[in-house]
Amino acid sequence: MRKKIHILRPELANRIAAGEVVQRPASAVKELIENSIDAGAKEIVIIVKGAGSELIQVSDNGEGMGEEDALLAFQRHATSKITTSEDLENIRTLGFRGEALASITAVAQVEVKTRTGSDDVATLIRIEANEILEQSKSNAPVGTSVTVRNLFFNTPARRSFLKTRQTELKNITDVVTRMAIAYPEISWRYISEDEALMDLKPTTAPERMRQVFGERQAEGLVALHEKTEYMLLDGFIGKPDFARKSRAEQYLYLNRRSIVSRSLQHAVYQAYEHVLEKGAFPFFVLNLQIDPRKIDVNVHPSKQEVKFENESLVYRLLLSAVKRTLVAHDVIPSLTLAGVEGAPTDAKLRFEGARVAHTSTTMPSFGITLDVPGGIEARLQDGQAGADQIEQVFRKIESHLDSGLAVPTSLPTEIPKERLVEHQSLRVQPKRESEPEVRAIWQIHNKYILSQIRTGLLIVDQHVAHERILYERVLANFENSLPSSQQLLFPQTLELPTGDYMLVGELLPHLKNLGFDLKLFGKNTVVIEGI
Ligand code: ADP
Ligand code: MG
Repeated sequence: MRKKIHILRPELANRIAAGEVVQRPASAVKELIENSIDAGAKEIVIIVKGAGSELIQVSDNGEGMGEEDALLAFQRHATSKITTSEDLENIRTLGFRGEALASITAVAQVEVKTRTGSDDVATLIRIEANEILEQSKSNAPVGTSVTVRNLFFNTPARRSFLKTRQTELKNITDVVTRMAIAYPEISWRYISEDEALMDLKPTTAPERMRQVFGERQAEGLVALHEKTEYMLLDGFIGKPDFARKSRAEQYLYLNRRSIVSRSLQHAVYQAYEHVLEKGAFPFFVLNLQIDPRKIDVNVHPSKQEVKFENESLVYRLLLSAVKRTLVAHDVIPSLTLAGVEGAPTDAKLRFEGARVAHTSTTMPSFGITLDVPGGIEARLQDGQAGADQIEQVFRKIESHLDSGLAVPTSLPTEIPKERLVEHQSLRVQPKRESEPEVRAIWQIHNKYILSQIRTGLLIVDQHVAHERILYERVLANFENSLPSSQQLLFPQTLELPTGDYMLVGELLPHLKNLGFDLKLFGKNTVVIEGI
């Protein structure tokens, strides 16, 4: 049989390998920033156009490269950071694989300008798809500037897999944000389409939190510092009322490298057990420092995954450190049922309460009866057995919200009645004769509403019900494009993280429709004029 195997041409091999290192513009940005940090830069400027697809430029004032090095840097497996296999076991730099520049150059047009402190002139190299197009002398300050144009120009499939510009830009912003948080001693400038999205002076870690997340959000944070034989842990954790709806704002670092670890994220989450509402995630910025010999970051070319020699130890240390910090700052409320007036003492009492409820008298020990004047409102068509009644209960709760009557210990009051938006479709149709009546609604602990319905007992989480009712009103207003907002006497300014600020910009028309009167003020600041 004829020989069938051959070694791939380097350009092709490079292009294949590049796919793992440079998955999207944000990964190229990450690699270039890592190189700048490894070169000891104190100033880093990131410029992007077309969300990185047209242009990515990362400039630093690091140690730079001599001419020979600058040429070698673009070869695969060319690195100044490790030499021996012992070095590989003991990685102290962000890069070590020697393939980022080779990968980027395989799928883009790249220009590098670099100068070391001992050279008078800079070296300029232009490369496209691993082929050197130009090599010359140039003028430039000490440091390195890498310009990447038309990323994925020769890999159309990859290019077409990119998400929308907004998403790609958000990914880049996330990379820059993560880096800026981990390196407060470095000054960062981040510019997209000629607009400065970030301009951070070198500073301390707490002050960097303020720069990145804004004064207000930074107030919701508690500093954490913990030292053990095995590791050093420091950073910031969010108070529970600063919780997030997703894991997107969890900043976890290992030796100042941003990492992804389901297990360690879970350790922090676990520490917040019983403190967070369901569906909420803690905000945190935590850096673990562990002897590099006890970890392995060489798991994937993107270097975001890590293997620990003793992961369960790290898990436990993290869990207990976060828990202790929460307790020390009195963030976890203590539970004192005994002696609280109205607290049910045992199951028997609860049963008795239920019986009293039936006869519609006010229970002495807990809960109250809400007598609803004006009968029941409902607008269900022919629902399933009981569904109409459930609807009725909701409407009843709603009418209490509106009337503001007879709610002594009361239905949710965080939102004053005047601010609630009135709307037609919620003034419900008159009830049909055949409908059974919902007799009484009971409220327990200011938290749950109990009601007797045909099929049994209905228990409503009052807070959630309230949210649902407000949500439906907003939706109705939204669909009828009836924005209704109340102008604030004193407009509020709100400083947001860059990513959120960009998001608000995108969502502005929708927020307006919902009744939020916002103005973008520049510098990540939003002015709220009406709600
Ligand atoms: P790695 O970072 O894994 O070593 P790269 O392909 O990212 O591999 O870079 C190759 C080499 O080029 C680096 O080891 C470093 O010596 C040099 N280099 C890259 N970027 C810079 C920079 N911004 N400043 C100075 N040297 C750089
Ligand atoms: Mg590198």
